[in-house]
Amino acid sequence: QAKAAGRGRSQFFSQELLASIEHRHRLVTQLRAALAQGAFTLHYQPKVNAVTGALMGVEALLRWALPDGTPVSPAEFIPAAEESGLILPLGQWVLEQACLQARAWQAALPEAVPVAVNISALQFAQPEFVSRVRGALAMSGLAPALLELEITESLLAPHPEAARERLQVLRDLGVRLSIDDFGTGFSSLSYLKLFPVHTLKIDRAFVRDVATDRNDVAIVEAVIGIGQAMNLEVLAEGVETPRQVEVLTRLGCAAMQGYHFARPMPADEMTDWIRRRGADH
Ligand code: C2E
Ligand code: MG
Ligand code: MG
Ligand code: MG
Repeated sequence: QAKAAGRGRSQFFSQELLASIEHRHRLVTQLRAALAQGAFTLHYQPKVNAVTGALMGVEALLRWALPDGTPVSPAEFIPAAEESGLILPLGQWVLEQACLQARAWQAALPEAVPVAVNISALQFAQPEFVSRVRGALAMSGLAPALLELEITESLLAPHPEAARERLQVLRDLGVRLSIDDFGTGFSSLSYLKLFPVHTLKIDRAFVRDVATDRNDVAIVEAVIGIGQAMNLEVLAEGVETPRQVEVLTRLGCAAMQGYHFARPMPADEMTDWIRRRGADH
């Protein structure tokens, strides 16, 4: 009887696996079509200094909707794009689009708005990655200091020395660098010492309960301490409530990003948001 149950289960699992492979395959086909049709857009989310109220910059976040209008979450399509290699042309499009937008804001707004772009491991590992970045800057006419690249710890782990060299070249270009989702990857302190980044973005996982969980307070405090000692900027991701703002501010982390300030929005809404804000301040 156990055997029969076991067989039933493995059949169930293989059907499930097959369904997920089919789903992934369909997703990749749809992604390829979307790329060809220009069906992707970028939304932008502000990063603010919660103490001074200053806008520090914006993060570009990829958005995709199926032809019938159903939005697909990046958490679902980015992994599919990475596995299929489509992240290379897609990531390049994001980089160029974000640089063009930042350049347009530079012309339209009284103050420049630095833009941050998420970079996937495959993109970063491309031999021509640095020249692609240089190309996007040249094509758009954007000053390097107005471009920030967000990378993750996992991207640095396989070849730390090569990654360090590449980051140094990018830094010498004048581009800003941040470690995204900090604390969820390797977080080896010796890595941190090695990698010439400007900013640590504390992952939302540690921010969520920071108003109630002493362990999260300890973790956030430790990251802020490291940041201060190593002269790195520390930004808290996923800030949703006034209470979180209060606790983070008290702990010494003024740079924040999250729904409390604004959700990611299309470029034209972002422009209005910045204008309104400028008028209020
Ligand atoms: P991420 O880079 O860590 O981006 C932050 C994510 O948190 C975004 O999700 C954003 O919409 C969401 N978020 C911001 N504030 C809050 C908040 O207060 N509460 C909550 N619950 N969420 C908040 P999104 O846009 O769904 O993107 C998810 C991830 O997909 C990103 O995480 C990034 O890793 C990846 N991604 C997005 N766009 C790109 C892209 O152009 N290229 C690459 N390689 N990855 C991207
Ligand atoms: Mg990011
Ligand atoms: Mg993040
Ligand atoms: Mg994330």
